[in-house]
Amino acid sequence: MPLPPGVRARDFSDALKQFGEAVGKEWVFSSEEDVSLYRDSFSPFWHEEEDPVPAAAVAPHSVEQVQQVLKVANQYKIPLWTISTGRNLGYGGSAPNISGTVMLDLKRMDRVLDVNEGNASCLVEPGVSYLDLYKYIQAKKIKLWLDPPDPGWGSLVGNTCERGGGYTPMRDHFENHCGMEVVLPNGDVVRTGMGALPAAKTWQQYKYGFGPYLDGIFTQSNFGVVTKMGFWLMPEPEAHITGTVSIPKQEDLPRFIDILSYLINTGAVQGTTRVFGGGGGGGRGGAAGGAGSAAWTTNLPFYGAAKVVAAQWEHAKDKFSEIPGATFRDGESYRFPLSLEQIDKIRNPVSVGIPNLSFFGGRSEGHIFFAPIIPMSGEGVLEATKVFDKAFADLGRPGRSFIFPQSYFPRSFVTIFTFPIEHNVENNRKNRELYKRLVKIAAENGYGEYRTHTAFMEDAMETYSFGNHSLRRTHETIKDALDPNGILAPGKNGIWPKRLRKARA
Ligand code: ADP
Repeated sequence: MPLPPGVRARDFSDALKQFGEAVGKEWVFSSEEDVSLYRDSFSPFWHEEEDPVPAAAVAPHSVEQVQQVLKVANQYKIPLWTISTGRNLGYGGSAPNISGTVMLDLKRMDRVLDVNEGNASCLVEPGVSYLDLYKYIQAKKIKLWLDPPDPGWGSLVGNTCERGGGYTPMRDHFENHCGMEVVLPNGDVVRTGMGALPAAKTWQQYKYGFGPYLDGIFTQSNFGVVTKMGFWLMPEPEAHITGTVSIPKQEDLPRFIDILSYLINTGAVQGTTRVFGGGGGGGRGGAAGGAGSAAWTTNLPFYGAAKVVAAQWEHAKDKFSEIPGATFRDGESYRFPLSLEQIDKIRNPVSVGIPNLSFFGGRSEGHIFFAPIIPMSGEGVLEATKVFDKAFADLGRPGRSFIFPQSYFPRSFVTIFTFPIEHNVENNRKNRELYKRLVKIAAENGYGEYRTHTAFMEDAMETYSFGNHSLRRTHETIKDALDPNGILAPGKNGIWPKRLRKARA
């Protein structure tokens, strides 16, 4: 296994011993067999030198043990990369960004600390997966929904640390978290929001507490280790229905998008939806076939009281009827709770809060995502379509002409391009080049990625350059203040600690 950069073999073996004293010998992994499990199985560097290989992994069971591990890492200047369940596939998986990193694996910290049915909230440790919390809630017959992302084996904490999204009205995971506990690199344990009040009664109910609101700086960052996080859950609604809208003319796309965004921004449509071309299936979350002659189609999800969702669908039809030739089709219709037979037949279980792994069905060697944010407006979508159409053609990959805007987050669309990862060095190399150029072209046209694979974090951060990179400078000022030895995930999201910062042009 590689050594941490700049750390001598003797010191590293002392450090491993001390990690063992902190967490128990059996929870420090340093054999090749164990450590290779932490490599990114969807790595764009498959079988290449640059593929990051961890040096070891350490799995604490408590906050105190996390503090001990940080202490040892500070002493020896060993880089640590935190994972909760390590399922971040497509964005780096369970792997670090640089070889020689020690993985700080929190999957043993897997306690559901509280579920408050009355206030529709919970408090969990990092190792709690969506599947775990779902089972817990089902076993206790609690009438609350969680909001899983596509694959349900990841954790609420890990997904929210990277600002992931799901499908129900609670789909913006950062927006629906409430309160954190974070261990800083110096070992301080900080609770945000009302959690800073030792006798707090509303840690999971009121987000802001008193003074500056810090939670955001612990997401997509390398400033601390999150050891607890609260979430708002959704009371089980009475009903969920979907409706499909199709329009026949290509040129009505802008009006179509404007109406969709009006319905989203007024709260009539509350789940993730997606626009796709033609009457085809539209994939996950899409409609099951539309009108054959359709130019554009979207699938609208509604959640709430049965009477209300029916009225919202009627309202949506009224709005879309402005477009000549618009057609409508009723989709799924559920009253809750569901029977097991109904659950078995659901096309997209995450849209009704049921975590699962069907996302990986049929996938081959892997994938990574290029995921820029674009405006939620007709004109904005049309322009982005032209930009990416031209970009792909110029880069020798014509024909990826529509961008499938999706509404994971309020007020904007994210458009996700999937790049295959192959067991073919040459193809991966070409895809990486293409990816890097797309990041630049997107930025020149005003689109930035919401999240990216570790291999491209530097490229993405480079584009957020307003004020001669004043945002990155601010991040690095905070980094140096909180993590003077630069032990937590150096370089993650393009944020480097002073001792490893390279000269930048
Ligand atoms: P998932 O929930 O999908 O399994 P991971 O555990 O792979 O997510 O975490 C995704 C990324 O989020 C990690 O690579 C790390 O950068 C960050 N992260 C995960 N858990 C924590 C945590 N507890 N504290 C700080 N950062 C974290």
